Amino acid sequence: METAYIGVGGNLGDVMESFRRARDLLSEHAGISSLTSSRVFSTSPVGQNAGTGYLNAAFEITTSLGPLDLLDVLIQVEQAMQRRRHVHWGPRTIDLDLVFYGERLIQEARLNVPHPAAWYRRFVLDPVADLNSNVYHPTKEMTVMDLRQMLSRRPLRWLLLANDERIGTNLSEHLSEEFSGLIDVTWRRIDEPGETSSFEFIAWNIEQKLKVREGAVRFDDLPIASRLDVSLLTGDAYTAIADVIKAATDEPVVVDEL
Ligand code: ATP
Ligand code: CA
Ligand code: CA
Repeated sequence: METAYIGVGGNLGDVMESFRRARDLLSEHAGISSLTSSRVFSTSPVGQNAGTGYLNAAFEITTSLGPLDLLDVLIQVEQAMQRRRHVHWGPRTIDLDLVFYGERLIQEARLNVPHPAAWYRRFVLDPVADLNSNVYHPTKEMTVMDLRQMLSRRPLRWLLLANDERIGTNLSEHLSEEFSGLIDVTWRRIDEPGETSSFEFIAWNIEQKLKVREGAVRFDDLPIASRLDVSLLTGDAYTAIADVIKAATDEPVVVDEL
């Protein structure tokens, strides 16, 4: 038996009803012996994309299913609900992510646990902390409560490590402008030694190239809590980092119980 945490999100249709149905389907599964739901949170829309109201929650389960079998069950539940609402593309009625599976580290083609984005997403951390604030993130080596605490600092201190001066300058100027008051940005060449302990985020390799030059700071030498490998994010560097900042700073608000 293992304790796992599932991140639940949705913004299409009757989201509360989708969450309840997902909870019921999972509770009834033979491999899941208990399920507790967090309260339901909404993230107040910020910026131009305002209007799409996302709801988030988390489920704590005890399960005899292995992590890949559990992922298959989550996908089945997602598909069951998609079919019911005839949605083929666009926003989904429900998204179920395996956030933590005990303190196990899993790196498979179809499954990464802890979910790679969980540590900087308030809409994941807040619901999990609502269930149990002492859940331990095994690669960040912090509890979800401490991660939340780290993200609540204003301004959040960002260090951008870049190969290219033009990109470093450009990115830091635009991010500072868009997130003025929320973040404080410093950029530095990736092969320039310097202090790394006073930042909440260190964005490594912002050009997203897979090969980093000789003499550059290695990702594994950066502080565990704050390092972020930008080459693993999707989209261009600006959008990718901006999405991280939004996820880290948008504060979820409790709106309901499931
Ligand atoms: P994000 O991962 O940024 O939250 P998403 O949830 O929208 O994005 P999906 O399209 O739902 O992404 O999932 C894409 C793939 O991610 C799935 O097919 C699944 O195999 C894989 N995956 C890897 N790790 C996990 C995990 N911990 N939980 C759920 N899916 C995962
Ligand atoms: Ca997701
Ligand atoms: Ca998903």
